[in-house]
Amino acid sequence: MNRGDWLIEEQTPSYQTRWRVREVLHEEQTPYQKLQVLELEDFGRALVLDDAVQTTVGDEFIYHEMIAHVPLFTHPHPERVLIIGGGDGGTAREVCRHESVQKVDMVEIDRAVIEACRKHLPEIACGMDHPKVNLVVGDGIAWVADHADEYDVIIVDSSDPVGPAKGLFNQAFYKNVFRALKADGLFVCQVLSPFFHQSLIRDVYGVVSAIFPITMPYLAVVPTYPSGLHCFMLGSKRHSPLREGVRTPAWPTRWYTPAVHRAAFQLPPVVAQLLEPSGSQAGQ
Ligand code: SAM
Repeated sequence: MNRGDWLIEEQTPSYQTRWRVREVLHEEQTPYQKLQVLELEDFGRALVLDDAVQTTVGDEFIYHEMIAHVPLFTHPHPERVLIIGGGDGGTAREVCRHESVQKVDMVEIDRAVIEACRKHLPEIACGMDHPKVNLVVGDGIAWVADHADEYDVIIVDSSDPVGPAKGLFNQAFYKNVFRALKADGLFVCQVLSPFFHQSLIRDVYGVVSAIFPITMPYLAVVPTYPSGLHCFMLGSKRHSPLREGVRTPAWPTRWYTPAVHRAAFQLPPVVAQLLEPSGSQAGQ
């Protein structure tokens, strides 16, 4: 990849997203994935894994505020939080804003991602060096299997269901997430685009709703993600994200508000129908 080249992310064989590259800041093949940090003409510096944009300084605030604050404000008093993945540090940054949060375990499998983000994306990576954060280089699948009844909130900020993240989208993993949560705990994961990943959303909803009494997808617009419309899946043991009394952030936000939180769960029919049962794969 060179200056002036195009970063091409293939969504389908006949649909690509392209970004003009101003500068290549970092490139390496890690034991887990192809890692690049690029300066894009539009959206600025970006973390790219296996040719898929993970985060950009131009729009990361939307994804990180929505994957962190929706579950943390759904829980009445979150103290113990687990982040799986999230190696750019943006989710940790937002989680640590919550005064009630005492300790955050963050388990990222690829040390190279952490180091590259600390060097080239400091305004995002700063979250990983917060005093509340216990940063572990390891596999999130094994971590949840080794922990029981420990967390108020678990956030699965993973890459797409390929390579190291494949095992973060199946029944065994979600059952272990359930076990690692306290009696009134809840979790959230990212499930990509309602336009390009319908069977994934349908299957994850099918599996999670068989494990958690409350299972609700929510949406946000993330311009640099496939189709721009991004879906998250929330699974909760007791607290509804639409409960009364969801608190207002005591700090300035750029996307998240209690009204945006509620609106995110109002699904258009074309997305709501994805939740209707059909042949399941994720349980395999
Ligand atoms: N927001 C991005 C998205 O939605 O595509 C995800 C960003 S974050 C950088 C994803 C991280 O998950 C990557 O750094 C990747 O190394 C990490 N990851 C993938 N599989 C993992 C696993 N099994 N355990 C822990 N971390 C994992």
